[in-house]
Amino acid sequence: MASIALKTFTGLRQASPENHHSISLQKAVALPSQTHRRIQIIAGKTSPKITGRNLRVAVIGGGPAGGAAAETLAKGGIETYLIERKLDNCKPCGGAIPLCMVGEFDLPLDIIDRKVTKMKMISPSNVAVDIGQTLKPHEYIGMVRREVLDAYLRDRAADIGATVINGLFLKMDMPTSENQPYVLHYTCYNAKTGGAGEKRTLEVDAVIGADGANSRIAKSINAGDYEYAIAFQERIKIPDDKMKYYENLAEMYVGDDVSPDFYGWVFPKCDHVAVGTGTVTHKGDIKKFQLATRLRARDKILGGKIIRVEAHPIPEHPRPRRLFGRVTLVGDAAGYVTKCSGEGIYFAAKSGRMCAEAIVEGSENGKRMVEERDLRNYLEKWDKTYWPTYKVLDVLQKVFYRSNPAREAFVEMCADEYVQKMTFDSYLYKKVVPGNPLDDLKLAVNTIGSLVRANALRKEMDKMSV
Ligand SMILES: Cc1cc2nc3c(=O)[nH]c(=O)nc-3n(C[C@H](O)[C@H](O)[C@H](O)COP(=O)(O)OP(=O)(O)OC[C@H]3O[C@@H](n4cnc5c(N)ncnc54)[C@H](O)[C@@H]3O)c2cc1C
Repeated sequence: MASIALKTFTGLRQASPENHHSISLQKAVALPSQTHRRIQIIAGKTSPKITGRNLRVAVIGGGPAGGAAAETLAKGGIETYLIERKLDNCKPCGGAIPLCMVGEFDLPLDIIDRKVTKMKMISPSNVAVDIGQTLKPHEYIGMVRREVLDAYLRDRAADIGATVINGLFLKMDMPTSENQPYVLHYTCYNAKTGGAGEKRTLEVDAVIGADGANSRIAKSINAGDYEYAIAFQERIKIPDDKMKYYENLAEMYVGDDVSPDFYGWVFPKCDHVAVGTGTVTHKGDIKKFQLATRLRARDKILGGKIIRVEAHPIPEHPRPRRLFGRVTLVGDAAGYVTKCSGEGIYFAAKSGRMCAEAIVEGSENGKRMVEERDLRNYLEKWDKTYWPTYKVLDVLQKVFYRSNPAREAFVEMCADEYVQKMTFDSYLYKKVVPGNPLDDLKLAVNTIGSLVRANALRKEMDKMSV
């Protein structure tokens, strides 16, 4: 949410980091190399038709990425399996979603706990700037409980025809020849087996790894590691009069005390608030940062009772490899969380859907075997659509989260109505919004002014500490 649309970044484009390779006997389709990716040789469909059944695809993980993928696959005529280890999983998460997700994923309003229309951005010296004045009456940031959202998306996939399995994916046997199936090993839980579970296998033609930041599917395909932030969050039940204050308000705190490279937050949930922070660079100090976040918000959460403590990694960038043969990664497993804002729910659901669409299209609604290049279509479309967004937020994090004076400058900038409008429009609609040239110029001058002041202040502070 700390995103600011800088339209000048539009058009930047990353070369796909994938290692292009297909499993040994896959038919000779010339795949683009990293340096010559634009000269793509388009071959006709070479994969065989499937008879007597439809294409079988397993989705591992039933978070937003997995639920959205399974729904699209099932809708597209694919024999779909969704394996989720914990059907009542409550993913550690702030639960903030952009308005466009509600429409694009047809989410019913009763699964949205709160509609946030006001945000306070709070600087290291506790200067609070109200943002949100530019929102139109129908616009808001949705706050959801993940156990509710995830279950809703999974159930909807099941209603359309996906088979949802309560199971823990263990490992996968790779095909030894072309068009052979992947054999998945998993522990199946059901009322009969109780907690112990029962070892089972499942044969499928393709696999989508939607199993989050600690993805076993990523390990199975040697996808490589990514840098990650550790995020810590406490759910705090606060007295009703205090909850009133947070009814439609979220707070973001910046400062070295709450995080050296991220922000601390207070987000309203159905009957409590979620207070949290994160860091990449000083993971060992996360509890200290959490305490500082709680201290900064202390007057507003006084009398509160901690009802849940949770922590989880947040990926910092995509994995070096996101595709191998007929196996690909989506959501956190792929590494699709934005820097600066730490937002990943929408991108998880979107990537799950986009990946599934590529499979449906490539397999001609499940009638043909799918190939690596069909899955590559998803990755290329993804990178083309979202790379500018990731880049802008990466730059913003580097510029504005690097010192307390820079953060003061950042909060000062947030008071500008134009900045607010651009920020909210970019966040709510996930578009790098074209601006107005005059206001852009004013913004550039103000930004430079704020940064110069921040820099001068930092130099003075450095002198004082010598
Ligand atoms: C503290 C915190 C706060 C955050 N706040 C926000 C926020 O406010 N807004 C936002 O947009 N993003 C937020 N994020 C990021 C967001 O939570 C993730 O980006 C998002 O959950 C990614 O969805 P996913 O479906 O890819 O993975 P996940 O939501 O992690 O889902 C993965 C699923 O796979 C299952 N699974 C894992 N391994 C296996 C296995 N071996 N077998 C079977 N199932 C398995 C898990 O049980 C889980 O249900 C936050 C993250 C953290 C840690």
